[in-house]
Amino acid sequence: MALVFIGVGSNMGDRLSNSVEALRRMASGIRILAVSSLYETEPHHDPSQPLYLNFVVKGETGMYPRGLLTFLQGIERDMGRKGKRDGLPRVIDLDILLYGDEIIRMRDLTIPHPLLHRRGFVLTPLSELDPGLRHPVLGRRVIELLEDLKDGKMVRPYLGRGWWKGLEPSLPSAKDI
Ligand code: ADP
Ligand code: MG
Repeated sequence: MALVFIGVGSNMGDRLSNSVEALRRMASGIRILAVSSLYETEPHHDPSQPLYLNFVVKGETGMYPRGLLTFLQGIERDMGRKGKRDGLPRVIDLDILLYGDEIIRMRDLTIPHPLLHRRGFVLTPLSELDPGLRHPVLGRRVIELLEDLKDGKMVRPYLGRGWWKGLEPSLPSAKDI
């Protein structure tokens, strides 16, 4: 079993429903251990695009990294994500941020996620879940990376912990997360 952190984003359609739906679908392959608050954030690629809702999931999975990527891309596809181009609005974006402390550099998969340390919309929810977590390549704690980040992009709290409760009654061990 591996401890994984998945970054989730949506800036198209009903962002809250998309977020809950992604969580529900992820729970079929990942044992969800914690779900961060929901944040509303400014897009990085193109400031004229709609604001995102972002959160991070901490989970445990028996899937290997490549299998996990395929699983997450299946969810993106099934939920109607179309384009692959940077900057286009998307129904859902699922990124593997960390897979244990493994360092993976393949053509289509880089772990830790290559932009993790430069994105407030990732570092903020990640630090909320586990501020002492160390970036396996940079060797620094995520809270330090967040403190050093000065990109000026907005990341504002949108809904607090447990935001998905009631919206998704079928999640396993929902009351414990
Ligand atoms: P981004 O998430 O950077 O905004 P995309 O979601 O369109 O952009 O990702 C494009 C590609 O990134 C995917 O086809 C996938 O193969 C690759 N990729 C590389 N590393 C990762 C990772 N850690 N998690 C998710 N996708 C990744
Ligand atoms: Mg992605």
